[in-house]
Amino acid sequence: STWANVPQGPPAILGITEAFKADNFQEKINLGVGAYRDDKGKPYVLPSVRTAEKKVVDSALDKEYAGITGVPSFTKAAAVLAYGSSSDAIKNDRIAITQSISGTGALRIGGEFLARHYPSSKKIYIPTPSWANHNAVFKDSGLEVVKYRYYNKDTIGLDFDGMVEDLKAAPEGSIVLLHACAHNPTGIDPSEQQWRQISNVVKEKKHYPFFDMAYQGFASGDTNKDAFPVRHFQSEGHHFCLAQSFAKNMGLYGERVGAFSICCESAEEKKRVDSQVKILVRPLYSNPPVHGARIAAEILNNPELNQQWLEEVKGMADRIISMRALLKKNLEDLGSKHDWSHITSQIGMFAYTGMTPEQMDKLAKEHSVYATKDGRISVAGITTGNVKRLAESIHKVTG
Ligand code: PMP
Repeated sequence: STWANVPQGPPAILGITEAFKADNFQEKINLGVGAYRDDKGKPYVLPSVRTAEKKVVDSALDKEYAGITGVPSFTKAAAVLAYGSSSDAIKNDRIAITQSISGTGALRIGGEFLARHYPSSKKIYIPTPSWANHNAVFKDSGLEVVKYRYYNKDTIGLDFDGMVEDLKAAPEGSIVLLHACAHNPTGIDPSEQQWRQISNVVKEKKHYPFFDMAYQGFASGDTNKDAFPVRHFQSEGHHFCLAQSFAKNMGLYGERVGAFSICCESAEEKKRVDSQVKILVRPLYSNPPVHGARIAAEILNNPELNQQWLEEVKGMADRIISMRALLKKNLEDLGSKHDWSHITSQIGMFAYTGMTPEQMDKLAKEHSVYATKDGRISVAGITTGNVKRLAESIHKVTG
């Protein structure tokens, strides 16, 4: 038959969700998904999103196509959110920005643009480990993916010296992917001081920084604080590009709202870059969907809704931070002899527990607690109702 030679691919990450669904135990826990849950374990639609969506629907806009680069009121506001309201690059009209199919689409447009136009290298350095999809996105874009050291499994912390050494050893002008905040999967971010040093090394080596900011606001609860690396690189005069996602910080997962931008040297350069972004996007999907972008634009541009949204982002971040503390406390109360301080020092949606694949397997098979084999658990899936049983399960498999 026609597809006789198409090999069966391996099961995707969704295998976890399938195993979870197939489990009949009442108190099963799913910590695999990277999506926020409320304290009842339910998906959460932000009240600001509900209000914005109602405004969008009530305004009875037409359903005409957006331009190739999307809804301008959205992309303008997205740039301000990332680069800051006093951004020099925005003031001087140096940012080429396009709406994208969430963060993944932004990374892909970036990968494609760099593969076509970046003159110095086809190599992109990503951290070890990194979000599982980075490798595939950049490889399919035509870039060569190389790794730099990031995670130190002995300290369950950042291998800063290894990272700097690898960035120094990379050929001059390499592309370097940086998680702007809430590194996925480790939850380990460089400190501001370390970011300054990274900026210096990247500058010395004339590398090209590519920021992936999928969690702005989700790490600290403060969208300005989480944007520090992007804004620091901006103020240091770097030229870089940026992928933004509104999946997590607005809970717009399935609406696929994101943006890709290139911080250029001048308004004239930006114009040329922008024209090539359009040439690249047009044969991919012509133009992006409008509904989610309209919701995000409403939230970003309406001062009252914006304030409400910022509080709701902080609410999500705070719940995650308090679940970290509660999990650690429960483990300590059980008498665990392990040092669990990394659970509270890590940041964002995930905790990288340091548990082995065997332990994760036991957690699933014997305790109905599901997460990825690398020991990553989604803290967003922990609730006041399940934390005790979770801690007991972790204690049993690690004790
Ligand atoms: N980058 C990172 C680091 C992520 O964790 C994610 C989401 N898991 C994304 C990008 C992209 O997500 P989305 O396409 O849903 O915005």
